[in-house]
Amino acid sequence: MKKQITLLPGDGIGPEIMESAKEVLQVIAEEFNHDFIFHEHAIGGNAVDAYGEPLPEETLKAAEEGDAILLGAVGGPKWENHPVYQRPEQGLLKIRKSLGLFANLRPIKLIPALIHASPLKEEIVAASDIVIIRELTGGLYFGKPSERRNNGNSVVDTLSYERYEMERIIEKGFETAMSRRKHLTSVDKANVLESSRMWREIVEEKAKNYPEVTVEHVLVDAAAMKLITNPASFDTIVTENLFGDILSDEASVITGSLGMLPSASVREDGLGLYEPIHGSAPDIAGKGIANPLGMILSASFMLRDSFGLEVEANAMEQAVNEALEQGYHTADLDLKDGTLVSTKEMTDVVIGSLSARSISDDICYMYV
Ligand code: NAD
Repeated sequence: MKKQITLLPGDGIGPEIMESAKEVLQVIAEEFNHDFIFHEHAIGGNAVDAYGEPLPEETLKAAEEGDAILLGAVGGPKWENHPVYQRPEQGLLKIRKSLGLFANLRPIKLIPALIHASPLKEEIVAASDIVIIRELTGGLYFGKPSERRNNGNSVVDTLSYERYEMERIIEKGFETAMSRRKHLTSVDKANVLESSRMWREIVEEKAKNYPEVTVEHVLVDAAAMKLITNPASFDTIVTENLFGDILSDEASVITGSLGMLPSASVREDGLGLYEPIHGSAPDIAGKGIANPLGMILSASFMLRDSFGLEVEANAMEQAVNEALEQGYHTADLDLKDGTLVSTKEMTDVVIGSLSARSISDDICYMYV
């Protein structure tokens, strides 16, 4: 398989962890006979420095033309006092909106070796395996008007959705549930908001096309509680932009490891932007100690969801699990009796597991 991958390392630790993902992908390409062609472009603060804007036209064009996008992270204190249009995070909002990446997928699965890092009791968090699907390009964050009035004494924000925007994200929810345990939780605030009542109607309509999926409607306040008290009761969650923003951050701390979690922002034709959920970690940038695993898992997410390379994605994820089970960890993870390693060393351990796996596969094959 030949694929063009747009790499957007970004700022802070972004370039360090991107290098790790690239090395692992190169090993996958060699082992499984693929051709991954990487195209690196600027986004965020470094793009502001070089081009005067956080998302240069050539970066957007390259992202649109490639088969998938991998992003490190953007931002840092250097650009905090720039005008809004030159803030690194604007590059991120603009690329999602310009490419029509309307669905944000965040898988939250507990890694057994890290169970002690969760702020929740082990027995509560043990079986957690959730995907949160958040609408990303509509709702309260984009509705107009959004302004101060009466000399700043009143304010209005607008929550608006077109029917098609709700339909496509809800369908994404059902499709995702079908590929998992076939249980969909739709989160809304239908006891108060008209937009939520329309959302709920559409969920009910779509449910008729997916008779195998069990559907439950949960109010957002109840969902926030249940994520903490019984996270294992969820499979696939689908919700609108604001609720998804809050719930996905809440759910991501369940695993207790910010540096480990990937996410994807995708559209109907399969184009996706894959990135770890953490930021650019300016406090540790350049020290070579960042955890590269969230970035590596973002790359495996890309292989599975954009390229359909299930076996290769599983191999990468198994290599990450093995590295942790053997006790290797970066400074952000506290593994009892483990071995503290740098970004580069962690990457090498993952690559070592991958290579060992394929050697043992070869041996099995030889003895069949
Ligand atoms: P952060 O996620 O960058 O860092 C929070 C803490 O977690 C820091 O102590 C950091 O060292 C640590 N950390 C994060 N990722 C790590 C990793 N891979 N390995 C080891 N430790 C890691 O959040 P922040 O400090 O609030 O934000 C820093 C900058 O990142 C800000 O400019 C913010 O706007 C930006 N940001 C960008 C994104 C993105 O690009 N998607 C997301 C969140 C924040």
